[in-house]
Amino acid sequence: MRSAGIHHITAIAGDPQRNLDFYSETLGLRLVKRTVNFDDPGSYHFYFGDNIGRPGTIITFFPWPGARRGTRGSGQVTTVSFAVPHNSMAFWKEQLRANHVIAEEIAGRFGSNALRFLDPDGLQLELVVIPSEVERSRRGIFKAPSTGSFDSAQDDKIFGFAAPTLEVRKPEKTENLLTEILGFEFVAEENNRRRFRGSGSNPSSEIDLVSSEAGFGQIAVGTVHHIAFRAADDDEQLRVREQLVARGLNVTPVIDRQYFHSIYFREPNGILFEIATDGPGFLIDEPADALGETLKLPSVYEPKRDEIERVLPTIHLRHSAA
Ligand code: ZN
Repeated sequence: MRSAGIHHITAIAGDPQRNLDFYSETLGLRLVKRTVNFDDPGSYHFYFGDNIGRPGTIITFFPWPGARRGTRGSGQVTTVSFAVPHNSMAFWKEQLRANHVIAEEIAGRFGSNALRFLDPDGLQLELVVIPSEVERSRRGIFKAPSTGSFDSAQDDKIFGFAAPTLEVRKPEKTENLLTEILGFEFVAEENNRRRFRGSGSNPSSEIDLVSSEAGFGQIAVGTVHHIAFRAADDDEQLRVREQLVARGLNVTPVIDRQYFHSIYFREPNGILFEIATDGPGFLIDEPADALGETLKLPSVYEPKRDEIERVLPTIHLRHSAA
C-alpha cells in the first residue's frame, strides 16, 4: 500500500453547539455531514471539512455533553495541525483574538511557523503556515470552503491537515508499521520529532511522530479518538488488511461508514488507527449545496428517526451554506 496520507481525524467534544460554532465560525470549516455515531445513535457525529469534505480535510467529532475531560499523553494524536496559507498569519492571530482564543506562536518547526491553541474542549490545535510553493500545488487538490459566514477572503482559509503530532513511547514500532505496511516514508527529523509522508504531495500526506516519556493519555472529551489513513479503494483496503493480520494485529472486518468503508486496529503504541476508503464521499446522500443542514441517518436507523431526533440535543447552524 502507498497511502496518500490522512483521511480524517476524529475527536471527542463536549457540548455539540459549542463545537459546531467553533469549527464552523471561528475556524471557517464547513459542516459537511450531520449524522449520529453509528455505534451509538443517541449521540451526534459531526464532520467538518472543505466545501465537500475531501479526504485530508475532514475533522470529525463525537459530542458527548457532560462527559468528563480526557488527558493528553503518549499513545495519542496529541495535536491536530491544519495548513493555512503562507501570508495568513496576521489574519489568524486577529481571528483567534476576536473569538477570545489564546494562541501561542511556534517558530520554525521544519521551517514553518504556527499558532497553537486549544478548542473549547481543550483539544490542542495548530495552524501551520505552509510555504507558498507547497500551497500552489495544494490548491489544485483542496478547495477551501466557499460558503458559510467566515469573514475573510478565500485566501486565508484552512486547506486541510498539516502533519499532526502522534506521541508514542516506542516510535520505532509505529514507524515500522507506517513505512512497511502503510507506505509512508521518512522525510525529516528535528529534536525528538520525525516526519513521515504518504504518497500525496501535500501537507495532509504528512504526520509527525514524537518520542514521548509521558504517561498514557486518557481518551475522553478534548482528545483525539482515532486517526484515519487513506485507502484508494476497497481492493487496496483489503490488501492492507491482510498484511496487518499477517503481522499479528487485531483488525476489525470492513465496516460500512456510509461515506467511506473502514477497518480499525490499534498500532503498537496504542493509538487507534483506521484505514478509510476515499469514496463514496459526502455527496452520496445530499447535494453539495445542502451538506450538513439536516440530520442524515444510515438506512438501518431511518425507522427510528423520530426516537433518535427526540434524544439528540437541538443544534443550529448559524449560517446556512446555501
Ligand atoms: Zn474514523
